Amino acid sequence: MSLRELPKVELHCHLDGALRPATILELARERGVKLPAGNVEALRPFVQVHGPCALSECLAVFERIYPLLKDDAALERVAYELVEDSAGDNIRHLEVRFAPALNAAPGFSTDDAVLAVLRGLERGRKEFGVTSGVLVCLLLGHGNDENRAAFDTLKRFWRPSNGVARPGVVGLDLAGDASRFDARAYAPYFEEARALGIPATCHAGEVPGPATLEFALDAGARRIGHGTALDGQEKLLRRVVDAKVAIELNLTSNVRTKSVARIEDHPARRFYQAGAKVSVNTDDRGLFGIDLTHEYEEARRAGFTTDELTRISLESVDQLFLPDADRASVRARFAAPGTQGSGASFRAAEVGS
Ligand SMILES: [Zn+2]
Repeated sequence: MSLRELPKVELHCHLDGALRPATILELARERGVKLPAGNVEALRPFVQVHGPCALSECLAVFERIYPLLKDDAALERVAYELVEDSAGDNIRHLEVRFAPALNAAPGFSTDDAVLAVLRGLERGRKEFGVTSGVLVCLLLGHGNDENRAAFDTLKRFWRPSNGVARPGVVGLDLAGDASRFDARAYAPYFEEARALGIPATCHAGEVPGPATLEFALDAGARRIGHGTALDGQEKLLRRVVDAKVAIELNLTSNVRTKSVARIEDHPARRFYQAGAKVSVNTDDRGLFGIDLTHEYEEARRAGFTTDELTRISLESVDQLFLPDADRASVRARFAAPGTQGSGASFRAAEVGS
């Protein structure tokens, strides 16, 4: 079985980092937003990152995307297209994350943003058979009003059973530039989520230093995004392994943002050999011009064997923010015929619709 055919789940995928350049162009045209180029090839250097750049430069590219994602039609479309692209990777279940405070506008609330994304995901589920859930991101650098609005939306839409029968909000994330802002100010949100039973992941260890890693572990995050800075931090890595905190790997992302010099030097396999649970993810498939199959290929370059990757793809199901019974149904779909290609190969009965 090829890595493309290998059934997969994806746990770390940013909606606003997943846009196709052609879609960016069309959304901008429809909304009268000026872009620095008028065709896809000329636009690519402005909306994609192909060489190494600082995390802050990568995040700056998003400034071109946000103005396009402030209405129902745009959010529904990009969510639907993400499901279609995920089907091309043979992804069976996807957790997609975004910060609805960035989508809010006068007359368009954080609730409206989540509803539009859920509609797009549901349309994609019906057509391509890929089930999904949403993680609501709080953002480092956002003010209290924005974070509170996003968190209240998370509370209103979260149900433990969301995700498989139909797309819904399944958890919390904290994202943003940890080289400029302190995650510790967000501890009360993680405490509140924990008290409500809402599972959390947290971007941690993407930039050097132990601070965000210590925060994520102290805050009770069940997963961490990146974890690259665990390299050489044996005590922290031991804490991650002992607490069964899963690491969401984003290999290409780490090379492009210069967290790691070369893919061959990535510490991911050392984490895995130390006993850490890991998953393979794209982070931003549109921004980096990659797909999840590419990331599995990169994982091989980082030292993982094909057998290990086959195991990792299945074990990642256990890390999904879903009840056990729903994880079992995702696992069962790993043995079912592929969803890859078009809706024609998808049998609706597989997801019980
Ligand atoms: Zn991320």
